[in-house]
Amino acid sequence: MSEHPVEYRVAVTRPEAHLFDVQIRLEDPVPQGQVFSMSAWIPGSYMVRDFVRHVGCLKARCGDRELALTKLDKQTWQCEPCDGPLELSYEVYAWDLSVRAAHLDITHGYFNGTSLFMRLHERDQRECRLHLSPPEKVQGDWKVSTAMPLKGAERYGFGEYRCADFDELVDHPVEMGDFTLASFEACGVQHDIVLTGRHQADMERLCRDLKTICEHHIRFFGEPAPMDYYVFQVMVVGDGYGGLEHRASTSLLCSRNDLPAADMSGTTDAYRQFLGLCSHEYFHTWNVKRIKPAQYLPYDLSSESHTELMWVFEGFTSYYDDLGVLRCGLISPEEYLQGLGQIMTRVWRSSGRFKQSVAESSFDTWTRFYQQDENAPNAIVSYYTKGALLALSLDLTLRLESNGRYSLDDVMQALWQRYGQPLVGLGENDMPVLIHEITGIEVGSLLDRCLYGTEDVPLEQLLPQFGVSFNLRPSASSKDKGGMPDTEAEKARPLLGARVVDDHGEARLAAVFDDGAAQAAGMSAADKVIAVNGLRVSSANLESRVAAADVGACLEVHAFRRDELMVFQLPLMAPKKDTCYLQLIEDDEAAADRRRQWMGLG
Ligand code: ZN
Repeated sequence: MSEHPVEYRVAVTRPEAHLFDVQIRLEDPVPQGQVFSMSAWIPGSYMVRDFVRHVGCLKARCGDRELALTKLDKQTWQCEPCDGPLELSYEVYAWDLSVRAAHLDITHGYFNGTSLFMRLHERDQRECRLHLSPPEKVQGDWKVSTAMPLKGAERYGFGEYRCADFDELVDHPVEMGDFTLASFEACGVQHDIVLTGRHQADMERLCRDLKTICEHHIRFFGEPAPMDYYVFQVMVVGDGYGGLEHRASTSLLCSRNDLPAADMSGTTDAYRQFLGLCSHEYFHTWNVKRIKPAQYLPYDLSSESHTELMWVFEGFTSYYDDLGVLRCGLISPEEYLQGLGQIMTRVWRSSGRFKQSVAESSFDTWTRFYQQDENAPNAIVSYYTKGALLALSLDLTLRLESNGRYSLDDVMQALWQRYGQPLVGLGENDMPVLIHEITGIEVGSLLDRCLYGTEDVPLEQLLPQFGVSFNLRPSASSKDKGGMPDTEAEKARPLLGARVVDDHGEARLAAVFDDGAAQAAGMSAADKVIAVNGLRVSSANLESRVAAADVGACLEVHAFRRDELMVFQLPLMAPKKDTCYLQLIEDDEAAADRRRQWMGLG
């Protein structure tokens, strides 16, 4: 006889209070007293979030009898022994508008299983059924969007869904609401785009562009696609950005202006970034959802789970996201190089890259990358940005040393065939061995220097061999993201050496950079600058006032630290060359050939 499934029920009866009602029913609980727990984190977002903090009114029953509960730790309970069936009920407060948790009001409901569902210990390998009840007291005609396999429910309907186990149950977020829906097919697989929130997006354009990207990635790893249905779940807001990958869907948060308008010609920077985000999350369908660190097979969602491998899972994905958009023709080589120059600028501007290696950044992501404070630029390196540049360095190195025979694409495809498809975890030290096996090329020393060490990736040497010049220049202002030459620079413009943000018109320092003028003067993050050389400044003109002065001059700066007025002498120095841009070199045919192969342009 087959095992009883674990039955989960979610009801929306109090959306105005942002409460989901959850019930769990288990026919045959563990005889000694069923243990169950909430998750501390959600895969893909590496920070302990203690989802249990939003759980209330927990009760356990067996028939008419209420069962006593013993709390074992912050998120785990044991209930008194019973023969079953065991029924748990509780409410979950859902008011976190992000892709990582749950959100519910009268206009829509969204949840990740990690925010809503208790894991029943020793029963978590069993089939899970999820019953979604039609909502009460809501606006509009609600439908359901999830990549969770259907049991009794119809596609987009309330009713019953089914998962093989708890791990799958928490990997299919659910969106409920009166959303916009559009569908397309990519390599024979149905893909849905679901937009919640007010928008005027050109759905045809979205479908066309996402189809191009999805087909590119499916063919990159090889048909057939590893899922038989896929959903882009998008929450559209005034100002927001975020994405989280799942095995057959992605949850995205974007700004209304990121989406293509009906009358839009060409591609805006914002839409290009949105396509890059979609490409990134879709690439994760293979890289991290199926090719996984051994550490995550299975996930331990009860506490931090450490791996040094985020350079492969986030770094490589960050490399292939924009490269994929370029290779399928949605952006030009110049636009691609502009984006790459901006990533380089982010890395080159942060002195933290000399203090933390990418491998350490990955291992410590729980306490450092995901918990950044005002000192982060001086203290840490991002495994996304430097990881992407490391991927680029590996790709270019493999292409050069094999005379164009091999590239990082071959390594990715081998990762898929050897680890992803058979679901074998990637060991912490497997990568250099695998790369050598596939290409015959030794990358240990590059990894020692730039992954486990804190050296800069050798792009200055590599890129020119692909017909791309690597250039560094001083930053024009804190709004200067790099990626382009500075055509307006007539003289060296001194910089404040701090990130300035607007605080009700006033200029507040959000971060003070190592070795910059502000730090030398003794200024700190959170200082509010009110005057330079005796004249009032605002957030709008502080930086231009500093830039207008001469290198070598000293400015008198008045600022409030808390409620204390302070005076600083700001010594203006020559700006560092920390802003990168890349340009095509057209006069070297062999290099241009290599570039076309790398960029997939024939
Ligand atoms: Zn990612």
